[in-house]
Amino acid sequence: FQPDQNMPVAMLSVTRDITDRKRAEERATHLANHDALTGLPNRNLFRDRVSMAIAHARRRAEAVGVVMVDIDRFHKVNESLGFEGGDELLRLVSTRLAGTLREVDTLARLGSDAFAILVEGIAAPEDMVPVVSKVDSALSAPFSVRGQDVFVNASVGVAVYPPHADTPQALIECAELAMNRIKQDGGAGCYYSEGLRSHATPAHVSIEAALRNALAAGELEVHYQPKIDIATRRICGAEALMRWNSASLGCVSPATFIPIAEETGLIVPLGAWVLEQACAGAAAWREAGYEVGISVNLSPRQFRQKDIVQSVAHALETSRLPAHCLELEITEGTAMANAESAVHILRELRALGVMLSVDDFGTGYSSLNYLHQFPLDCLKIDRSFVHAIESESGEAIVSATIALGHSLRLKVVAEGVETEAQHARLAAMGCDHGQGFLYSAAVPAAALERMLAG
Ligand code: C2E
Ligand code: CA
Ligand code: CA
Repeated sequence: FQPDQNMPVAMLSVTRDITDRKRAEERATHLANHDALTGLPNRNLFRDRVSMAIAHARRRAEAVGVVMVDIDRFHKVNESLGFEGGDELLRLVSTRLAGTLREVDTLARLGSDAFAILVEGIAAPEDMVPVVSKVDSALSAPFSVRGQDVFVNASVGVAVYPPHADTPQALIECAELAMNRIKQDGGAGCYYSEGLRSHATPAHVSIEAALRNALAAGELEVHYQPKIDIATRRICGAEALMRWNSASLGCVSPATFIPIAEETGLIVPLGAWVLEQACAGAAAWREAGYEVGISVNLSPRQFRQKDIVQSVAHALETSRLPAHCLELEITEGTAMANAESAVHILRELRALGVMLSVDDFGTGYSSLNYLHQFPLDCLKIDRSFVHAIESESGEAIVSATIALGHSLRLKVVAEGVETEAQHARLAAMGCDHGQGFLYSAAVPAAALERMLAG
């Protein structure tokens, strides 16, 4: 074989040409389909994957879920930590979100602060509920960016093929619409597209349907759990807790129906009703000569309602209950999820003269900076810590929480006190108030009056 001197060179150069071009094409395709900052698929590729997933699901009679996650007020992060800080946060968020997914799911970045998740191989819309709660809890812990703890609020929207949309574009838009609705509601949280719930388990559907009628049907009642002074064991207040005795379902626990009421928005009328009832009840006890205040729980959704301050003012006016006799409880999670706007709302409520308390303290992540800015009166230690009080670490947590509360000049209430031993520990630690089955469960108004009299 006598090679032509030029041939191999030419051939070689042609070969290398192709490889380079292939690499360049691959790189170009990668760039066109991925986000440079996080390396995640971009909107193009995501739409592609959604469309493949729908085709696949159609053949197998499965469902496909799309979750939109949009970080609230991301520009504030850029303002306070600079663009590099913002970039770092986005990378950390993408890593956390990726950690919640199964290998078959796709995480994508669709815009500056918008992420999307494609969930394949699900059977029904309610299969998306655990996915969303994983996303929620992944984002609830603070992110450490340039040595600072950054709390992230995200608005989350969900849509599912086939009930909500049957083309890839429509499915993505539907999830975005759901996400935008929650954003417009003015707070972090999750909004399911219409119908996600109505495709849920039969039990769920019947609870929701029955709950819609519960108020009109007179099936709801407010019970009152006494709050006692730990030092004297006298009743110093009571917490209003909703009870539902459904004609079709029997007694349904608040742990079951409150989350459904919250998701569907039913909590707004139900919560307003509890507030009116509780204020009227407390006004009557005061007229009878008992100096007890009343505590009412405000759910995240109620707390975000634009007219929350007016509806509290209205309940006080109609019942003529002095404002300082009403205490509103919001959970630590609700307060911290949107701490900046919470500061404003709490200040407005405080201006009415009502007392404010942080519920379930210790179950979320509190920024001490915000805790300090909130106009609070009281901190309620979550019952999980009270139950652990007899262990060494449990005791340390409870006593540190009491010290923290006192240093912020707050009264401290222990929830879920069930035993004399727990009571004795709390008394020794200087905890102010207690609630729990040891003293009394929640009881009807008449029973509380008897306890006050006795
Ligand atoms: P929460 O605000 O933390 O209320 C305290 C819950 O602990 C009540 O459960 C109460 O019955 C229960 N509890 C009291 N003492 C003990 C004890 O010693 N041991 C144990 N294991 N539990 C005790 P309940 O009434 O089932 O309410 C559950 C949750 O539902 C409440 O938690 C609150 O978040 C929500 N909820 C109840 N009523 C209302 C309401 O009118 N409005 C709103 N927004 N939420 C409500
Ligand atoms: Ca409470
Ligand atoms: Ca609580």
